[in-house]
Amino acid sequence: MKIVNDSTCSWINDLTSRTNIKSLESNEDSEWLIIGAGYTGLSAARKLAQLYPDQKIIIIDAQLAGEGASSRNSGYLVDTTLNDGFTSNKDLDNYKKKTEIYNLGINAVKKFINDYQVDCDWNDCGKYFASSKKEDEKTLINFSETLKKLDFEHNLLSNHELSKRLGTNFYNVALHTKGGVLLHPGKLVRAMIDVLPKNVCLYENSSLLSWGKTKDIISCEFKNGKINTKKIIFATNGFLKSLGIKSNYNFPITLTASMTRPLTENEFKAIGQPKEWGVLPVRPMGATIRMTKDKRILVRNTAEVHNPFKMSKFDLQKRSINQKIGIKKRFPQLPEDIIQSSWSGVVSRTRNSSQIFEKIDKNIFAAGCYNGSGIGVGTLFGEQIAIKASEENTEEIQTIEARNKPTWLPPQPFLNLGVKTRLIYERLRARSEI
Ligand SMILES: Cc1cc2nc3c(=O)[nH]c(=O)nc-3n(C[C@H](O)[C@H](O)[C@H](O)COP(=O)(O)OP(=O)(O)OC[C@H]3O[C@@H](n4cnc5c(N)ncnc54)[C@H](O)[C@@H]3O)c2cc1C
Repeated sequence: MKIVNDSTCSWINDLTSRTNIKSLESNEDSEWLIIGAGYTGLSAARKLAQLYPDQKIIIIDAQLAGEGASSRNSGYLVDTTLNDGFTSNKDLDNYKKKTEIYNLGINAVKKFINDYQVDCDWNDCGKYFASSKKEDEKTLINFSETLKKLDFEHNLLSNHELSKRLGTNFYNVALHTKGGVLLHPGKLVRAMIDVLPKNVCLYENSSLLSWGKTKDIISCEFKNGKINTKKIIFATNGFLKSLGIKSNYNFPITLTASMTRPLTENEFKAIGQPKEWGVLPVRPMGATIRMTKDKRILVRNTAEVHNPFKMSKFDLQKRSINQKIGIKKRFPQLPEDIIQSSWSGVVSRTRNSSQIFEKIDKNIFAAGCYNGSGIGVGTLFGEQIAIKASEENTEEIQTIEARNKPTWLPPQPFLNLGVKTRLIYERLRARSEI
């Protein structure tokens, strides 16, 4: 099925249009084929090109490279996340493993931007986990205990301090972690496209329709051509399930976000001229909200089971109204109609929040399912799955593989029913935080 995306994402519209776009128009053979050109696929391609400068590497995407979730996210490169459940010592051990992966992810992105001198509005200002509900302080105190045990620098904040820092009176309690970075996701992924080495051939607007393996050759069918490859890496994240990859272990979730125009000087003064900041919700379905360095406000407050291939204009507008309300609640002094764009993006989730990093079969590999933290982990997994596919090992691979594997999911319709029920429950719990 064709992926039809809205063309209204502010992050993408900040970039200059690309002119070097090629689609697959004939049959080809290659040593390596990567399906999906987001952070994961592009990082895999870059690493393979370094490892095999004389081999042909094809990377192919159903839409324009990088213009899936990799350009559509909120731009938090995270060191820690909150919404997981980690109370016993056993869970602490799991949480530690997870943060070790986040840390490797941050290092992978840092190395990439240093090696290629990338400007992606990097700001290591940390991030807030915040709530308007006083009773959520308990959750934050528990979280603080976990962070202390693992040596993460952080502090708890109350309403007064928060309103000074964020320019809104909305939040009553928060925990600020020093680690973690805010960045421009579109600029980061565009840089990954721009630096692809010469032996990487990028095809766009070319959707993989079907694939199969005969002896040692993997054959992939596209609308206008076929690629026969010796090795393949699936890096389609929210679309892994639709290609039959680990389909009983992951499922797509659609997120929508909106961004305002830049605030005027007067509007910015009216909210106290805060420095750039990013807030993540304490309750899982609450809003992610960010003040960018150029004075725009980004809000993401939906996560749902939806057709991952398309969201209609009407559906997007409905969600945008919800986001307008989210901004109004926090910044009542700002005008009503300041949202400039709204967009949707698809991610993938697993039941136990573990990622997929696997050899699926001989010469067939897959990486994905970052459960909302794919900027760093996607970059890391892309590079490391390329190394794994080359039959090599690294400390990073050992750290990744030390985590639990994703757990089995029930078949449809039970899966959608279960996920929808859970999302409704979480949405009700987070009503005040939208
Ligand atoms: C609104 C939103 C907010 C988010 N916020 C954050 C955040 O703040 N921090 C964070 O770390 N993460 C965040 N995420 C998640 C993050 O964007 C993803 O985890 C990350 O982009 C995954 O990268 P990827 O390369 O694996 O997948 P993608 O960027 O989704 O790339 C996969 C590519 O595969 C292509 N594809 C799919 N099917 C086919 C096919 N059949 N044939 C060819 N190509 C195909 C798609 O077109 C797509 O370009 C957010 C996501 C969204 C949508």
